[in-house]
Amino acid sequence: MSRFETELERRLEDIRSTNLFRQLRRIDSPQSPEIQADSRSLLNFSSNDYLGFANEPALKEAAIRAVERFGVGSGSSRLICGSLGPHHDLEDAIASFKEQPAALSFSSGFAAALGAIGSLVTRDDVVILDKLSHACLIDAARLSGAALRIFNHNDMEDLESILRWARDRARDSTVLIVTESVFSMDGDHAPLKEIVDLKDKYDAWLMLDEAHATGLYGANLRGLAEAAGVGSRVEIQMGTLGKALGVSGGFICGARPLIDLLINRARPFIFSTAPSPAICAAATAGLALLQTEFGRNRQRALFERVAQVTARLPALGKGPPCPILPLVVGDETNALAAASALRERGLLIPAIRFPAVPRNQARLRLTLSATHSQKDIDSLRDALIALQMDGALNPGSKPEAAIQTESRTT
Ligand SMILES: *Cc1c(COP(=O)(O)O)cnc(C)c1O
Repeated sequence: MSRFETELERRLEDIRSTNLFRQLRRIDSPQSPEIQADSRSLLNFSSNDYLGFANEPALKEAAIRAVERFGVGSGSSRLICGSLGPHHDLEDAIASFKEQPAALSFSSGFAAALGAIGSLVTRDDVVILDKLSHACLIDAARLSGAALRIFNHNDMEDLESILRWARDRARDSTVLIVTESVFSMDGDHAPLKEIVDLKDKYDAWLMLDEAHATGLYGANLRGLAEAAGVGSRVEIQMGTLGKALGVSGGFICGARPLIDLLINRARPFIFSTAPSPAICAAATAGLALLQTEFGRNRQRALFERVAQVTARLPALGKGPPCPILPLVVGDETNALAAASALRERGLLIPAIRFPAVPRNQARLRLTLSATHSQKDIDSLRDALIALQMDGALNPGSKPEAAIQTESRTT
């Protein structure tokens, strides 16, 4: 082994010794409730493909048509010669869906976060983040060079005291609050009405990451801001095309000058090859499908599955209705053992560990899809109960990890 490799092996050993080592697992089938991995079939409770759009014919056909018409590559960054029809169609569709004046698409939600925060604040400004914010929001805030302050998760008093500090510090600087609406690892919701009121009171801006809410919440499925009645009061609305919409890519939408500023300032947008036209066409088809009766039925079916699981396994249903159902185990080793015992039983439910969640808050993160069947839900319940009887969940002093089931069987 070269000295280079020896050094890297030493670093990997540090990761292994704290049970934080990760490995890729090859899947040889489309995303769906049943996936093929290691030449066996696994019941999939790990995907963010909430509405089952990832393998939906209407999206696939749109991608194929775009390939036939535009080829596979976009050729350059959007600002050089890569701004193709499908990019513009997608952005028109996003703006119209979100009822916003304009939108800009990115190759991922991660890139959208880096581009937006990096364009809006500099060294003299302040970014205030919820403590459980996604890594891309944290990295974007750090890279921006602005002063970074963290408020305790969903704690409005803490947020207000930081806003007061920020305004005392520099009356004229930009103060940007950043939060998720539905939190990715816990499935709980931000108190959006309160956050928006505080934002206005302290003359701050709000960037809202609706990665796990777009397509799932609100009368028109725009997200939690719509459900909370504050859709027109959030300056910077962010989403991903890779979760409920079933494809990949990210977006920012809002006022026209916001989008023009991003086109001029967002480095992941400016210095990166535009996404393949096929991806954009598929996402546009996903947005269209979402707004049909078919899409609404999928969304309703998803929340019926959520209700069925939380009725059978009340320990999972402590928060507001959400297809993200965390089962906090605590210790990383126990979480890994539980995930591997579930895999033995044919279920794919990942152990989520630091840094995705704080240390010693490792968990099984279960996600539901509209395409799960009643039988899949029964298998899930049976597997979790069996696991608990085997002691594999090892709840110990952590009562929240205990699986309680409903007293009467249905
Ligand atoms: C998944 C996710 C992102 C990143 O979006 P991608 O399109 O997957 O890059 C951003 N924010 C949150 C909260 C997410 O869960």
